[in-house]
Amino acid sequence: MLIAIIEDEKDILELVSLHLKKTNFNVKGFLTGKEFLDFIKKEKPDLVILDLMLPDIDGIEICKFLKSDNKFSDIPIIILTAKGEEIDRVVGLEIGADDYVTKPFSIKELVARVKAVLRRYQVKSKILDIGGIIKVDLDKYEVYVKDEKINLTTTEFNILKILLSKKGWVFSREKILEELWQGEKAVIERTVDVHIKRLREKLKEGGRFIVNVRGVGYKIEE
Ligand code: CA
Repeated sequence: MLIAIIEDEKDILELVSLHLKKTNFNVKGFLTGKEFLDFIKKEKPDLVILDLMLPDIDGIEICKFLKSDNKFSDIPIIILTAKGEEIDRVVGLEIGADDYVTKPFSIKELVARVKAVLRRYQVKSKILDIGGIIKVDLDKYEVYVKDEKINLTTTEFNILKILLSKKGWVFSREKILEELWQGEKAVIERTVDVHIKRLREKLKEGGRFIVNVRGVGYKIEE
């Protein structure tokens, strides 16, 4: 997940970047609107955090531009504003931002908002995220680890999908087999371990999110 932050106050930019990186996001920071607009010609962020008072371009103009362009209109935007009139402008003008945070803000609050906005979008697009490292596109049957596409077998993909249907819940081998084959195939439970082993290997550093609960089964834990 790549997050772009446009903020001309260097201290705030660095602080926000640091905390988002700690939360496993990839982060690109921009001190001016122009730098950001140049960047999005080459790369598309998954979310934008946008300060309104920038030295070169009004943040509201950047927001309107993104939301009116087909290529970018699906990028969620969180606005940073100073208290007072700006909030009225953001809300009143309905510029299409997804959320806003007023300065001074708590960094924890901002990170929580980022996660909440991303969750809302993922539900809409059916792209699920695991720990900020793995992306699973349920419609296209595609899996990415840090934006690199991974080739999974249908069984491996389905096991991942089963575990993702309830993140944090433990699925027994028996339950996984039942979901996979609906009782059609006689498969020994040990095969689940073999599939999960391969799945973990393919997911590389993301493999650690699939956790074995001894004597019970498997779950996704971030
Ligand atoms: Ca500013």
